[in-house]
Amino acid sequence: VEGARVLGVGVSVPGQVDRATGIAEYAPNWDWHDVPLLDLLTEHIAYPLYLDNPLRASAVAELWFGAARGRGNAVIVNLGTGVGAGLVLGGGLHRGVSNSAGEWGHTTMVLDGRLCRCGNHGCVEAYVGARGIMLNLREIGPDSALLHPEDQTATIDALARGVVAGDPVALRAVHETARYLGAGIADLVNLFNPEIVVLSSWVARTLGEPLLREVRDAVTRHALPRPLAATQIVLSPIPTDSVCLGAATFALEGALQAVGQKNGTRAAVRGRATAPPS
Ligand SMILES: [Zn+2]
Repeated sequence: VEGARVLGVGVSVPGQVDRATGIAEYAPNWDWHDVPLLDLLTEHIAYPLYLDNPLRASAVAELWFGAARGRGNAVIVNLGTGVGAGLVLGGGLHRGVSNSAGEWGHTTMVLDGRLCRCGNHGCVEAYVGARGIMLNLREIGPDSALLHPEDQTATIDALARGVVAGDPVALRAVHETARYLGAGIADLVNLFNPEIVVLSSWVARTLGEPLLREVRDAVTRHALPRPLAATQIVLSPIPTDSVCLGAATFALEGALQAVGQKNGTRAAVRGRATAPPS
């Protein structure tokens, strides 16, 4: 892309990110602790940089371009290797006091349950993240040819093909996963009373409609009638990578805010665009 046309660069980093300092405080996938990512990137990228995590990025993508457009209250459920919920409340992105709201993947689903990457036991992610789904599959069919022990993507792909082909082990594994997922999403429905719940990220995209149907049934069994009646549950309609789209949107938002700043309003924009001159 021609440099003069670039307004900024958005970066999505898994885990806990401090937007003000640009420090990736904790990324369990990569065992990152307090990595000064913004400073490291600034040495190589001569554009305003905007850091946040995939939960926020995918929520903004749905809000601007996807299923949450025009919705004031939405929950974007990210189903990948990691699991979490991007929260749109009262018309805006909900970050919490230290930008870590939405860590639904590490809320407890089963007391004293499976060990999770975060060190806790029984987290939602340990049952509905890609690794959790592999464990569900292994429990149902320990010798199933669908299992690729070292390869999450290959296993989820095989599971999706197995469902289409009517493989009974695949069908049970998706049913079991949807039971956990439905109970967890019913919690979100009861807590936030959203207009829409969007299933996003690669596991949701790969398992698609068969997973969605089972999840809808399971949520219906667990959620309270009033919030349930107001909620739609859909798959993300964004055909590309919604996290990349959302990260780019952060850059666009930052550029728009920077225009506001030139007009005298000092908003809390993060990144090099607002760094004091040195
Ligand atoms: Zn956890």
